[in-house]
Amino acid sequence: QDPVLAIVGRPNVGKSTLVNRILGRREAVVEDTPGVTRDRVQYTAEWNGRNFTLIDTGGWERDARGLDLRVAEQAEIAVEMADAVLLVVDAIVGITASDEAIVRMLRKSKKPVILVGNKIDDLVQEADSALLWGLGLGEPLPVSAVHGRGVADMLDRVMEVL
Ligand code: GDP
Ligand code: MG
Repeated sequence: QDPVLAIVGRPNVGKSTLVNRILGRREAVVEDTPGVTRDRVQYTAEWNGRNFTLIDTGGWERDARGLDLRVAEQAEIAVEMADAVLLVVDAIVGITASDEAIVRMLRKSKKPVILVGNKIDDLVQEADSALLWGLGLGEPLPVSAVHGRGVADMLDRVMEVL
């Protein structure tokens, strides 16, 4: 049985883009419209010769209702299934109330969490990523899912906890 990594974060932070980057192919659906991934979607991924299961989720929002609530529940199920969680935050937008609510949910789960500040497309933006220390989850890893920047270092770190 491969170890399981769940990818969570609010809609539109770039979770599916990051999944595609990790897989090295375009399987996860990426859109400019928030919340396109409705369910948990599972993939088999590989890094440094080790296989793991990657679960993409639709996004978790504070005070979600209706369909959004069902999407949030799927994210919680993914966390339950996971050996470790990758929390993706939009480092350019910065910390939102939904990000803070996700952190509370993850603390209750007691799963190891790796914090990723996405959309750090160039060096100048790394200062934005450093602000994510404020979430209290330790060092935020700056990545650009679109350009691949920082993703190898992130995966090395993931493998240490998975
Ligand atoms: P999800 O809802 O969290 O799965 O987010 P998506 O992967 O669907 O991406 C939402 C939007 O953010 C899309 O327009 C992506 O192209 C954009 N995006 C994702 N990653 C990056 C990144 O590293 N840099 C920039 N500039 N945009 C990104
Ligand atoms: Mg998505």
